[in-house]
Amino acid sequence: MTDTPHTDVLIVGSGIMGSIVARLLRDTDPALRITMVDGGSAIGETPGVHLHDVDDPVLWSRYNEQVVTGIQGMYTGAEVVRDVADSLTDLTPGMFHALAFGEDAEAMPATALAWNAGGMGVHWTAATPWPAGDEVLDFGDPARWAADLDAACRVLAVTPAAIGPTEVGEVVLDVLRRRFDGVGPDDRRPQPMPMAVTPTASGPMRRTAPGTIFPAIATGGDPAFTLATGTLATALTFSDGRVAGARLRRIADGADGAESELLAGAVVVCADALRTPQLLFASGIRPEALGRHLNEHAFITARVLLDLDRFGIDLDDLPLPRVGEFSTDSLWLPHNGAAQPFHGQIMNRTYVDEDGRPLAHSVGLSLLAPIESRPENRLVFSTTETDLAGMPRIGVEFGYSDADRTLIGRALDEVRSLAEEFGAFDAATERALLPPGSSLHQTGTVRAGVADDGTSVCDPDGRVWGFDNLYLAGNGVIPTAMAANVTLTGAVTAVRAARAVAERNAALATY
Ligand SMILES: Cc1cc2nc3c(=O)[nH]c(=O)nc-3n(C[C@H](O)[C@H](O)[C@H](O)COP(=O)(O)OP(=O)(O)OC[C@H]3O[C@@H](n4cnc5c(N)ncnc54)[C@H](O)[C@@H]3O)c2cc1C
Repeated sequence: MTDTPHTDVLIVGSGIMGSIVARLLRDTDPALRITMVDGGSAIGETPGVHLHDVDDPVLWSRYNEQVVTGIQGMYTGAEVVRDVADSLTDLTPGMFHALAFGEDAEAMPATALAWNAGGMGVHWTAATPWPAGDEVLDFGDPARWAADLDAACRVLAVTPAAIGPTEVGEVVLDVLRRRFDGVGPDDRRPQPMPMAVTPTASGPMRRTAPGTIFPAIATGGDPAFTLATGTLATALTFSDGRVAGARLRRIADGADGAESELLAGAVVVCADALRTPQLLFASGIRPEALGRHLNEHAFITARVLLDLDRFGIDLDDLPLPRVGEFSTDSLWLPHNGAAQPFHGQIMNRTYVDEDGRPLAHSVGLSLLAPIESRPENRLVFSTTETDLAGMPRIGVEFGYSDADRTLIGRALDEVRSLAEEFGAFDAATERALLPPGSSLHQTGTVRAGVADDGTSVCDPDGRVWGFDNLYLAGNGVIPTAMAANVTLTGAVTAVRAARAVAERNAALATY
């Protein structure tokens, strides 16, 4: 017998992916002992609550100031922060540029990491367009893919038309439909953006977050679930293809850095696309594909004031934002193969004067261009240097191919031509190709595949090749080049990992 603490399943990371795994495992077994560790601490009093929905007025205002551009890359600040804090305990929990966390990320300068309980899931915009075409990772089983995507939509509470369309939003959709008529099937015409929110008749709409996916994260009350925030997994321990557990370090403010070990029947790593491979590397698990095929769509953005005369709209007819919401319409231009390869995210706003009367309406157009999946775009991990958390320093090697550059050029032209449909537009000042990392949608670094042939890290269920009980979930597992926002697709990998762990547990129980 050993005195080392033991859990049935250890989940590393309390973001959306970790919370989906916990929720689905709990649905299958109310008594399963689940331990979740996260290096970050709660922002405010309660872990896992979206900042859009917190009661604390200071936190709420700060979130709304940060989110108002509607562009996730600007959420962490328009300027990339490169100054590295002196120590982890100097950091207030939140989002940090990877450079400011001590990573060698100049090739993807805008990329950012969540360093807080709930991960990016307490910050995200919650746009959840469904994947299609080349994005689909069905591994030859379309029925299972469809069922897993349904499960991911259910657990994220995806709502097809959440914010809008208002009457003016319909005008914008009409323009898009006229331009893109016939390029894809009916269900991929321009339409309202599916969002992971709880719809309400008026006022703010609650965002899906770790604390709504698996409420025990926020409210407790589950005796078989333990959440340890401020607790970094520094390495997984293993032998003979079996993970024994993890080494943990207490790092929360005021913590003593105490090290401990936790034994686990199975481990699911949900530590994002940068730090999941980092933890594997730190543990000495270093398959050929680890960190390779790093991918992120290019982010082209523009904002144009709607020409009200052109569309015969009175100023007083402009839609007013709902209380607690910054945009009036969240709309979607789905990609549709080579004819329309870009994912369009359109977030519109009405500007009001100090008495709340409309002044103008802007159409925020973002086109995301898929980037080729190439092994030379990769993360490398240092064996000598560490980042702020004391983990192997992450180096980013990332560049665009000629084909990528051609597609980005096409997207820049397309966004200009689209914007001109809505009003006077100055591409020099109102359009930008954002620096790599800006979308916060990195994928591919622990990609899934059907064979252990050196091009993948895990099988389609997220089980690491050569391991019996080590699973991965999240965007890093996605092997396909994504045009659309990636979180719904990442959630499919969490659905699969949870099912695989549950099936393994059931098989062991009947053995
Ligand atoms: C402002 C913003 C807007 C966004 N908008 C959208 C959107 O509209 N649509 C969309 O699809 N996506 C969006 N995203 C991206 C989306 O939030 C992420 O894809 C998703 O939340 C990733 O979830 P995750 O659980 O994989 O990772 P994370 O949320 O990053 O969680 C990983 C957790 O692991 C912890 N961790 C890491 N390493 C360790 C370790 N060694 N030990 C212990 N803990 C560790 C971290 O502290 C972190 O909490 C947005 C993101 C942001 C920031």
